[in-house]
Amino acid sequence: MDKFRLHYSRQIAGVMWKTVSEACNLACDYCYYSRCKGRPGKINRIRDDLLEKFIREYLEIKIGYAPFYWQGGEPLLAGLEFFQQVVDLQKRYSGPGTYVVNAIQTNGTLIDAQWAEFFKTHNFLVGVSLDGPKEIHDERRLTGSGKGSYQMVMRGVEYLKKAGVNFNILTVIHEKNVDKGKEIMRFFLEENFTHVQFIPCMDFTSQNPGRPTKYAISPEQYGKFLCEIFDIWYNNGNPKISIRFFDNMLAAYVNQIPEMCQLQKTCPKLLVLEPDGKAYPCDFYMNEDYLLGNMYETSLIEILESPKWKDFLSLKPALSKDCQTCEFIHLCNGGCPRNRVGSGNAAEKEYFCKSYKQIFRYSQEKMTKLAMRVMGEAQKV
Ligand code: SF4
Ligand code: SF4
Repeated sequence: MDKFRLHYSRQIAGVMWKTVSEACNLACDYCYYSRCKGRPGKINRIRDDLLEKFIREYLEIKIGYAPFYWQGGEPLLAGLEFFQQVVDLQKRYSGPGTYVVNAIQTNGTLIDAQWAEFFKTHNFLVGVSLDGPKEIHDERRLTGSGKGSYQMVMRGVEYLKKAGVNFNILTVIHEKNVDKGKEIMRFFLEENFTHVQFIPCMDFTSQNPGRPTKYAISPEQYGKFLCEIFDIWYNNGNPKISIRFFDNMLAAYVNQIPEMCQLQKTCPKLLVLEPDGKAYPCDFYMNEDYLLGNMYETSLIEILESPKWKDFLSLKPALSKDCQTCEFIHLCNGGCPRNRVGSGNAAEKEYFCKSYKQIFRYSQEKMTKLAMRVMGEAQKV
C-alpha cells in the first residue's frame, strides 16, 4: 500500500459540498445557513474546473469508502446535469479499492420522476427535511411567499418511494413540535418511513460561530421528547424503525464507534467546501477564523495540512470538568463543541447535557438488554 496515499486518505473522512452556497427555494426561519429567504436569485453553483480538480485530487488519495455529501441551501437547484457531471467525474477518477458514495440533503420540493430515477440509478442516499404531518411541518418550513411546503415535499417523497430510492427523513425539533413526539412518530410509521433523525433547533449562523447560540427549546423539553420517542423506537425490544440517535447509542453499547459526530471522541475530518472553493472543517464553523484554504488556489493536501484544522479538532476533546467525570462520557463524549455554552471554544458543557443524561438514564436498562442480545447474535454468526 502506498504510504503517502494511506496517510492522506486518513486525513479526510469525507467531503460536504455546499452545492449552491446559500441559495434555497424555501425560507425556513430556523435555518442556520441560508439567508436568501426563499428567493435564491442567480444560482452560484460549483464551477466545472473546480469540481473536476477536487474530485481528481480527492479520489487520488482516498482509499476505501469515499463519501460525498451534497448540501445547500437547496442542492437540487444545481440542476440534474450538474449531478450527472459529478457521477461521470467520479467514475473517471475513482480507481480500484475506492468506493464512492453520494448522499444528498434536500427539502424535497423539487424532486420529480427524473430526479428520483437519477438517484435510484446512481444509488444516492437522499435525506428529506420534513418536520412531521402537515400542520406541524407547515409551521416553519415555508416558501418565500409564506406558503407551507408540506404538499410539495410529500409529492417528492412519493416519487422517491415509487422509484425505490433509499431515503431518510430529517426533522428539526422546535417549540411547535417538541411536545408532539408521539404524533410525529405515528405519522412516520403510517408513511412507512424506515430511517429518521431529529435535530434540535438552534438560532445561530454557520458564518458566525463565535456568537452565543439561542436555543428554541430547553434541555428538559428535548430530553422529554427523546424519552417519549425512545419507547416507540424500542418497541418491546424489537425496533422496527431506525432513529439515528438511538442506533448510535446502541452502537456505543456494543463497543462500536457511533457514526454521529457529536457522539464521537473527536470531530471527524469532514471537509466542507463552498462553491467558490473555500474550505472549512465543519458546516457549523464557516468563517475566516476556520478557513482552511481555497481549493482553487491550493492543493487538497495543503488544505489537509492546515494548522487551523488541528485547532478545530482540539475543541471537542477539551472537556468540561463535569464531562471528565461523567458516567455517560463513553456514550456522549461531551457532545458538539458548537453547543457548548458561550463561544463554543471554551471547555464548557453542552447545552443539551441534561437531555442526554435524561435519555441515557431512561434507556439504560433496555439498551443494555438490546446490546446483550445483539452481541449474543453476533457471536452465533
Ligand atoms: S452527558 Fe453531559 S456531562 Fe456527560 S459527557 Fe455528555 S455533556 Fe458531558
Ligand atoms: S463541531 Fe459539532 S457538528 Fe461540527 S463536526 Fe464537531 S461535533 Fe460535529
